[in-house]
Amino acid sequence: NQRVVLAARPEGRPVPSDFRLEEVSVPALGAGEMLLETIFLSLDPYMRGRMGLVKSYAQPVEIGGVMVGGTVAKVVQSRHPDWAEGDIVVAYSGWQRFAVSDGSGLRRIDPGAASLSSALGALGMPGFTAYAGMRNIGKPKPGETVVVAAASGAVGSVVGQIARIHGARAVGITTGAHKLDFVRDDLGFDAVVDHKAPDFAAKLAEACPDGIDVYFENVGGAVWDGVFPLLNPFARVPVCGLIAQYNHGAEPQPGLDRLPVTMREILSRSLTIRGFVMTEFWDSQRDDFLRDATQWVADGRLRWREDIVQGLARAPDAFIGLLDGQNFGKLVVQLGEG
Ligand code: NDP
Repeated sequence: NQRVVLAARPEGRPVPSDFRLEEVSVPALGAGEMLLETIFLSLDPYMRGRMGLVKSYAQPVEIGGVMVGGTVAKVVQSRHPDWAEGDIVVAYSGWQRFAVSDGSGLRRIDPGAASLSSALGALGMPGFTAYAGMRNIGKPKPGETVVVAAASGAVGSVVGQIARIHGARAVGITTGAHKLDFVRDDLGFDAVVDHKAPDFAAKLAEACPDGIDVYFENVGGAVWDGVFPLLNPFARVPVCGLIAQYNHGAEPQPGLDRLPVTMREILSRSLTIRGFVMTEFWDSQRDDFLRDATQWVADGRLRWREDIVQGLARAPDAFIGLLDGQNFGKLVVQLGEG
């Protein structure tokens, strides 16, 4: 069995030596267990949090422990009454080729319904995150302006398309000509803005002539600084992720303390700023999501792009790159064939 374990806790940006690729024997099955073989492994920004010790909503990975992660896997041996060899499942079996499961937390997928990897992206956890944040917090209305950064990625691409499905204007923030073109031309956003442009704030204001009604927060940092002055009265801000900060730890950054000004503006503009973790809504809204998203795919209103890396050995570098935008689309590692 091939697997990637956490070798060291990163300081700042992770480096390849924080990970270790290992060969170990495939575990034997007990009664009620099955062996899963990974086909696709999802690489997601939250994994940076699991590598550190900063308190969060989930436990850190132990040193020497297998890196956590969502997977699409095939049941290759089963001693479980409900699962048969050949079943394809969404699992949380981590950065490894084989894993033993007792069936808890597994979801069966129909391999004929959509591409297998989409169950880790637009039709899986990230797509659901976009759906839940927009449905419960963003609540876009026709004619409103919705802004999202990391707009070509797994969550952001779905946010903008949901905005348009609700009749709102979608403004995407990303960087680099390929991503900017893709978000506007392939995903159909109404406008795109480059967050690395020196006049980013001015360009964002130009792209949002009527202000911003929903800002779906994926990144934090300089993008937030550009967005905040443009928020309209009664704007909603689902706070989903802060990827610009993930390599900086939990310590306050040097600089002016803007919290008093921010609080005053939250008050005077009646802003709703609401953090969420998608698990809050998973049990109650997952079925609605799968129904709606499947329909939108069939109608051609929900599209996405995937960035597929071949082989587990490449996962560490791909993950390090994800944290500074080297991925183009939902990042997955392919380990096998479906
Ligand atoms: P993406 O596929 O969008 O990939 C990450 C992207 O973040 C990069 O491609 C890059 O895009 C952008 N990025 C990285 N650093 C910066 C920066 N300093 N400033 C601006 N953009 C940056 O990732 P996901 O769609 O999987 O995740 C998006 C966000 O959603 C993350 O913050 C993640 O943690 C969060 N999330 C939260 C969940 C929840 O339950 N709350 C669940 C799932 C995800 P670009 O090249 O466009 O800058």
